[in-house]
Amino acid sequence: MTPGEWMLVNASLPLRDEKLLYTLTIRDGIWLAVEPQEGPVYIPDAVPIDGMQGDRPDERIVDLGGKVLLPGLVDAHMHLDKSFCLPQVGNASGTLAEAVNNYSAAVPGFSKEEIKARIVRSALQAVSFGTTAIRTHLDFHARWGAEVALRTVEAALEAKEELAPYLELELFPLAPYFRFADKETEVLEEAIRMGMTGIGSAPHLSPTPERDIDSLFRLAEKYDLPLDFHTDESDDPNKRTLEYIAKRTVERGWSGRVTVDHLCSLAAMNDMDAGKLIERMVESRLTAVTLPGANLYLQGRHDGFPVRRGVTRVKELLAAGIPLASASDNIHDPFHPFGRGDLIQIGLITAYAAHMGSSADIRTILRMITEIPAAILGLEGYGILAGNKADFVVLDGMTPEELFTMLPERRWIYRRGGWLRLAAGRAGWNEPRLERYWNEAAQRLPFGQFRAGRA
Ligand SMILES: [Zn+2]
Repeated sequence: MTPGEWMLVNASLPLRDEKLLYTLTIRDGIWLAVEPQEGPVYIPDAVPIDGMQGDRPDERIVDLGGKVLLPGLVDAHMHLDKSFCLPQVGNASGTLAEAVNNYSAAVPGFSKEEIKARIVRSALQAVSFGTTAIRTHLDFHARWGAEVALRTVEAALEAKEELAPYLELELFPLAPYFRFADKETEVLEEAIRMGMTGIGSAPHLSPTPERDIDSLFRLAEKYDLPLDFHTDESDDPNKRTLEYIAKRTVERGWSGRVTVDHLCSLAAMNDMDAGKLIERMVESRLTAVTLPGANLYLQGRHDGFPVRRGVTRVKELLAAGIPLASASDNIHDPFHPFGRGDLIQIGLITAYAAHMGSSADIRTILRMITEIPAAILGLEGYGILAGNKADFVVLDGMTPEELFTMLPERRWIYRRGGWLRLAAGRAGWNEPRLERYWNEAAQRLPFGQFRAGRA
């Protein structure tokens, strides 16, 4: 094998055919061949993946011993800029409203360096669990002035550039929703010109959601960008911005470029109304993201028993053929004090929240954290096929059932022609620069005592 070439044998590929083991070859970061084996193979020169040191000339043939190999996991919805800020910003009531208010009040006090450290730390933490692409929403508090809003944008752009060897980062500023005035639009347009991937927002929080949605579609057209809306993240069955988003998506010809997230109201309304809205989603070709960790935590706070779960209609959306990803949302911040950026953990939470534990369900959940979000993000050359990018994670488990039962800590991550993480290496990282980024960011963000909310 020449430098830049690798051969992996005895790989289990649950997104393909689990009855078979596979041999995969990589050249210069691209899958050269993906071939089913007749049975387990034994190659005397092969190093078992458990003992691999990484990037050594005598370790070019790696025996996975039946471990699962997945394409790099894709997190379709995070808030990297807020992650690990819980020691600074609490949330005593645990409601979405208090989280929004407290974070908003605290934003002017955060430096660009602090925000960047949060992004780097949480992004790399996600990488350490096997994620190789993230769409992150960015706080965009234009009401505190352009400088505050653009501070987060600048931090994100710097982090994106530094982290480019390790993951693909999509940036969606959260367009303001309380006063979407001309001045704020100007600042948003400045951010877009600086290099945003698309435009995000949360129009259900606005007193004028339809006007806001129209403004955002106009901006999306002007700059030819996709839209990604926090949509009806509420227990109120009468929140229906989804209906208007679907309508405008068709009218403006933006089908396939609009993503709707959360959809909690869809779970709060009756079957007939929800069925009609799901039909509108299909017609307008909306893509969707469920955030079960955050919504199990945030929703139903005002319910007496029986308390609603808050998580959207996962099975119904999937049955209708809507591309539905499952994603992390917030990590250790006032919106969600837990989470660790591990999509296998999110897959498990999805399974609990949506009653998905059958053999078929578990495989669907694997697609909800790989192929489906990859399509939503529009990633090119994604997946385990000859000619595609060989970005992947090997997990210490032989079946999808084992992954969701054991949530294995040991994961081997490969991207762009090299191993990023070896489960057996120093702190796992296999690259000095990556380890330095990780250490610097983690030092800036110690876990602290939870503080009461500021509101
Ligand atoms: Zn969110």
